[in-house]
Amino acid sequence: FAKTAGRNTWRLYDASMQEETHARLRILNDLHDALLNQQFSLMFQPQIDPDGAIGGLEVLCRWNREGELISPERFIPAAEELNLIAPLGEWVLRNACRQLQHWQQQGLLPASFRRMAVNVSPNQLHDPGFARHVLTILEENRIRPDQLEVEITESVFMDKRAGVIHQLQELIEQGVSIALDDFGTGYSSLGYLRDLPIRKLKIDRAFVAAIQSPPQHQPSGIIDSIIQLGHNLSLTLVAEGVETAEQHAYLQARQCDLYQGYLFSHPLTATEFEHYLR
Ligand code: C2E
Ligand code: MG
Ligand code: MG
Ligand code: MG
Repeated sequence: FAKTAGRNTWRLYDASMQEETHARLRILNDLHDALLNQQFSLMFQPQIDPDGAIGGLEVLCRWNREGELISPERFIPAAEELNLIAPLGEWVLRNACRQLQHWQQQGLLPASFRRMAVNVSPNQLHDPGFARHVLTILEENRIRPDQLEVEITESVFMDKRAGVIHQLQELIEQGVSIALDDFGTGYSSLGYLRDLPIRKLKIDRAFVAAIQSPPQHQPSGIIDSIIQLGHNLSLTLVAEGVETAEQHAYLQARQCDLYQGYLFSHPLTATEFEHYLR
């Protein structure tokens, strides 16, 4: 291929590789200062219940590097690599709790509102004080533990360190609930569903995106199986990435419990979310 395509192809490839490496190094280099200089912010995406009311919200972190918005898909792995995920995760939780308390005090949260979900990286669970830190932050902000949901991914269960599960168990004992994010894309053994009382499955948006109109058999077969599994285990089911009315109708017919996606709302700034609540 190299021969027939000629040298230019390789040069192009080299240049984009170099650019990618450069971008990655810059992220690693700037992340530390970003935390000190408060370049992070939070977005809030509503989760809609079957009645169309707000059942919850997910907190999503953003990095604004001098006007350039960098995706968490890029900076979260970098933060893990640099051991900055603990301070970043704590910043996220503290600020999210402050915000929730503010909305609570203003009486802006509807009666349908159950909990706020925060993403937690596997590395954060390596800290033996993690659960205690979380509970302290909740207390400081007068947020009840049952108002918090921790979103983890299946990769957490590939970590053989017992401490990881222990941290989650401690949180569950205090009333915090655990949601399994991006369900269906990771580790395929379901044994962990027996080891930890997880409350929610978040169906990965790839499966939701595969719902066709009119529904086609194969992709829908997977999502139907996930919903069936969730119902059989009495888990709450959240559909991620709901973008069309057809997808929503399909999922409603199969009794999903919560819907999150651009059809209802993009992630919003605190001010925008406040307008949304009003
Ligand atoms: P996630 O937890 O699965 O979050 C859902 C992602 O889907 C978000 O991307 C959200 O903006 C996006 N999304 C929501 N609705 C739709 C839709 O209808 N269509 C499409 N195509 N996308 C939709 P985002 O905000 O870029 O975050 C990406 C990932 O970064 C998150 O995936 C999560 O794994 C991670 N992340 C974000 N914030 C944090 C954080 O504070 N801590 C940690 N550890 N990870 C975070
Ligand atoms: Mg999530
Ligand atoms: Mg997800
Ligand atoms: Mg994800």
